[in-house]
Amino acid sequence: MQLLTDEIKRRMFSRVFIFFSCLFALGGCVSNDEPMPEIVHSSGSESILIPPRVVSPKRSQGSAYNNIPRDWFPPSQLEKKWVAVVIHHSATENGNAAIFDRMHREHNHWEGVGYDFVIGNGTDSGDGEIEVTFRWRKQIPGAHCGGTANNWANRDGIGICLVGDFSHTVPTARQMQSLLKLIRFLQKRYGISKSRIYGHKTTPGARITDCPGRRFPMARLKSMLNY
Ligand SMILES: [Zn+2]
Repeated sequence: MQLLTDEIKRRMFSRVFIFFSCLFALGGCVSNDEPMPEIVHSSGSESILIPPRVVSPKRSQGSAYNNIPRDWFPPSQLEKKWVAVVIHHSATENGNAAIFDRMHREHNHWEGVGYDFVIGNGTDSGDGEIEVTFRWRKQIPGAHCGGTANNWANRDGIGICLVGDFSHTVPTARQMQSLLKLIRFLQKRYGISKSRIYGHKTTPGARITDCPGRRFPMARLKSMLNY
């Protein structure tokens, strides 16, 4: 009798052992090969799926200008009303604000670089790096688009120069990203619509020029602006 009972116990134990071994093997396959949803255990015994993380927009005085570099904002006591943006290329393979500043002083006898902003192409400044010049900081007229009636484009237009010769090449992706960000900021701050975003050569009244180069993607740029 005792022998019989031991035999039954042994068989039951071995069946239970095989059952749990199979379960373990199956579980191992799933967790190794299949991406599983992330599960956390709440304080109770239930498991819950983690929802997508929601990040609330920061509420601050400058919330409309999040991630805008401080030097894009002119000193408030000097800030004037701007009505247009004029885009240029440097027509050189390389350069930066300091190099153009020297060129414009020495060759053109201007008081310094003619543009308000210079966007680098990775040669003499970072690829897509935006340099702010003394003209923007002082809010004084530019020297980038001569010939217009009453010099309006220099007086009331913001001059942005992208380093590069877009008669032969195109701006880098980072230059275009930076240009878009800068133009969107200027549009918002001064209420400039995209009909007032000009390439140098299409600025009303400007002298004949190829600037910013026939390969500059003006139509694509405008298609990415909202208004
Ligand atoms: Zn130009």
